[in-house]
Formats: sequence, structure tokens, C-alpha cells
Amino acid sequence: MKLSPTQNHPSFYRKQDIVYPVVSRRSGGVSIGINLSPSKKCNFACTYCQVNYHRLLEKAVLSTVSPKIDLDKLNKEVEETVKAVLSGEIFSEERFRETPFEQRVLRDFAFSGDGEPTLSPQFPDAVRLVAQKRDDLLHESVKLVLITNSTTFRNPQTIRGCDEIIERNGEIWAKFDGLNANVYHSINRSSIPFEMIIDNLIFASSRWPIKIQTMFLRNDKTIPSREEIASYIEILNRIASKGGNITGLQLYTVARPPVESNISALNQVEMDAIAEEVRKGTCLSTEVFYSR
Ligand code: SF4
Repeated sequence: MKLSPTQNHPSFYRKQDIVYPVVSRRSGGVSIGINLSPSKKCNFACTYCQVNYHRLLEKAVLSTVSPKIDLDKLNKEVEETVKAVLSGEIFSEERFRETPFEQRVLRDFAFSGDGEPTLSPQFPDAVRLVAQKRDDLLHESVKLVLITNSTTFRNPQTIRGCDEIIERNGEIWAKFDGLNANVYHSINRSSIPFEMIIDNLIFASSRWPIKIQTMFLRNDKTIPSREEIASYIEILNRIASKGGNITGLQLYTVARPPVESNISALNQVEMDAIAEEVRKGTCLSTEVFYSR
């Protein structure tokens, strides 16, 4: 099956180790990914994660890979990737050839990749370096975006990196797939307590503006129930009532072939119905992203 540019998101590019451009639905254009997880380290094992398959397959090899990246290499790869995007050279490559004209715009640098980026000991240094590079080569309207699973917000190095992101015109997109504790444990498959994720979101949204992003999916034939959506709304309102600055919600579904065969995307009607419930139950600006 041929994937469209927004579905084809491998976290590698040419012979680069750290930096990879993608065409992103949520950014509405080209997003330059920064992969701070060479050892694919994550404290979640999401059922929809494409990297899980490689984590299992390459377990022995990955345990020997250094968790550190080469910051000089990051510097060089950012420069070369920006050049390839701005010159348009990238759109002559097979993977990007069908990118719609209006999406051939560099929108952001996204700290994301093959694991949880804030687990990298170099997260704050990498943010500083990419922010400086962005200021040297581009305009500050090209944002810095952290895509995080919301597990480390209280860690000092995460706080430093997030402070810098927000000061340098960036955004924090915080994952929250837990419609309730059961859904959280069955989708994200982590030993981190559910209530800790909620506390982290309260902490983060009290310190920085954040967007919350939530995956809705079909698990075998089961779709999210009304009770689960009601629980989700109650939690969002709880976070907001504690002073949380939630600037928006991104509700999305599976867009790329998932590794677990029982997981599939919700259709447009199902996603719209969920979004309508959420809009009715919260005062939050809500965007929906379908599978295509
Ligand atoms: S948090 Fe992200 S990288 Fe980690 S398992 Fe989930 S989808 Fe994969």
C-alpha cells in the first residue's frame, strides 16, 4: 500500500541519525523531527506505537546503544535539513513528491522521535541548540514543539527544557490517552500510575500553556464508550479548574499502520461524535484529525 506524505513518517532521513522531516497533519506542513532517543527508550509501550515493534525486535542491540546524541551532528543535520526544505529539493524525493502545495511550508521543529524525548539527558541542551539554529536560519514563527507523553513534567531537566521552549515561542503538546485508568493501562501500558499523569498535567498547565492530545482508537471491535468519554471530560475539567492553561485539544486517531493487529482507526463519523461530546462538556478549543 502506498502511503501519503502525512502517513509516511519514518524517523530517519537520508543518512542522518537525529533529524528527519515529515509532512505533519497536526502542523499543517513540514515538521522537522528531532529524535533524541537513539536507543528508542520510552516509559510507555503504547499499543499504537510503531516503534514498539523495533524495540522488541532489536532489544539486544538497543541495550548497547548509547542514549546520548552527538550535539555537533544535531547542529549539522538541522542545517542541512532546513536547506533541503527551503530550497524545495526535498519535494523531488519519492517520499515527499505528493506533498500538496499549501503544505510545502516549514512549520516547526518537533522534539519527538523513537521514544520519550524528555527522558534524554540532553533534552534541555538540544532545545537550546535547535532554538538558536532556528533564530539564526529562520523566523521565530517556525515553532519549537515538544511532543511528550506527560510522564516527566516535574523533572528538573524537563522543566528547564520546557521553560526554554515556551520562552522561545514554542508549544508543548502533552499526550493524555487515559479516558479512565483502565483505558490508560490498556493503551499506554505503563507502570506509571494514572493519577500521576493527571497531577503532571495539572502541574504543567499551571506553569506553561499546553495542548492536550488524545488518541481515540478501535480495539478489536470496541470503540470508546459514552462512560469513557464522560470520564475524559470530567478529568479535563478537573485539570482546567485547578488553574490549568489548556490552549486546545487535539483529538486524533490512528493514521499510520499500527503494529498491533487488533488496533485500527475510528472513522470520521465516530471521531466527529466524540469531538461533539467533548466540545459540549468542556470550554476547550478542539481540533479533530482523521485517519487520512
Ligand atoms: S509514548 Fe510515544 S514513543 Fe512511547 S510508546 Fe507511546 S507512542 Fe511510542
